[in-house]
Amino acid sequence: MRFGIAGAGFSGAVIARELAEAGHEVHVFDTRDHVAGNCHTERDPETGVMIHRYGPHIFHTGNERVWSYINRFGRMMPYNHRVRTTVGGRTYLLPVNLLTINQLFGTALRPDEARAFIDEQADHTIEEPANFEEQALKFMGRKLYDAFFHGYTRKQWGLPPTQIPASVLKRLPLRFSYEDSYFNHPYQAIPKDGYTAIVEGILDHPGIEVRLGTPFPLGERSRFDHSIWTGQLDAWFGHEFGHLRYRTLDFEEIRAKGDYLGCPVMNFGDIDVPYTRIAEHKHFAPWEEHEGTVCFREYSRLAEEGDIPYYPIRMTTDKTLLTRYLDAAREEPDVTFVGRLGTYRYLDMDVTIAEALTAADGILEAIDRSEPIAPFFVDA
Ligand code: UDP
Repeated sequence: MRFGIAGAGFSGAVIARELAEAGHEVHVFDTRDHVAGNCHTERDPETGVMIHRYGPHIFHTGNERVWSYINRFGRMMPYNHRVRTTVGGRTYLLPVNLLTINQLFGTALRPDEARAFIDEQADHTIEEPANFEEQALKFMGRKLYDAFFHGYTRKQWGLPPTQIPASVLKRLPLRFSYEDSYFNHPYQAIPKDGYTAIVEGILDHPGIEVRLGTPFPLGERSRFDHSIWTGQLDAWFGHEFGHLRYRTLDFEEIRAKGDYLGCPVMNFGDIDVPYTRIAEHKHFAPWEEHEGTVCFREYSRLAEEGDIPYYPIRMTTDKTLLTRYLDAAREEPDVTFVGRLGTYRYLDMDVTIAEALTAADGILEAIDRSEPIAPFFVDA
């Protein structure tokens, strides 16, 4: 069969590869002049530092299939992500752990004592947390929440945390030990030659043709037996019912000599600091040495027409609109929607790859059984 794929990020590339390996003809289109989507990396010509062009991407997973998949296409270097946060003129460790708790409260509690202490702080009147703020108050109480979550979340999402889904907080652990690794997953790594080289490797197959700087030919999609859409779900429908909203990021570059931050990422929890965090990209490659350094301050704002979409907002109004698009997508023939933009979800890279592999399996099974290919292989 002949497939047309919109988007050369992880979703599009992984599906392209699986289909090509099964003997199909695949045409991949991307409007950008590079592959890898928002995971794109490139060397800074002045310092030689590998820059994560659209913000920090740390690969972490517990999924064996995904881990062995990504390792086929490049060398993954062990990397343990650590994040610090500055609030009220002091610096603390994230995710919230025993040292963070002891520093904030001026205590020297051991794990069991800290557990009991935080349990006293927690708001037990909240049974089913309905939003980010309630989720935080139920599990950590007011003081930790106000210090580390309220301001940062307000800036990141541009909304009161009472309007943000509780699931966003579930991304972050609360630890009663001094472990300060940002992620819990057993595999944590960053590709030695960057993500773009990995995605180029995935797409490097005789059955795949990649066209960069070229939008997917929506008007001529009958050229393909089936299309895979990893672009914005609503864009497929010409935004017919309205725009699904995203947060976008503005990056402000800082160049210096030596070490600017002393760590890969410093968050800023105070509401009056206009940016959310600073990332120093050479710390994402601790196996490299560079004299100069490049950092980026991140400013979050509502994406407007022409801005790069980063985080799907998914508030109640967006979800109502999303339901309309999902219903329309289920009726749309000969297309499958995948990925962060195609399903309008906040996805990590490993989940994106896992879902792309599942979608490719599903597509190949449907072909084997001569059944129609489903528009979704996940519960969007
Ligand atoms: N968050 C926060 N304070 C922090 C870091 C994160 O309140 O110092 C909240 C914020 O709402 C953020 C969410 O936790 O959107 C998830 O954080 P994560 O670090 O996973 O965000 P990402 O790196 O994906 O932007």
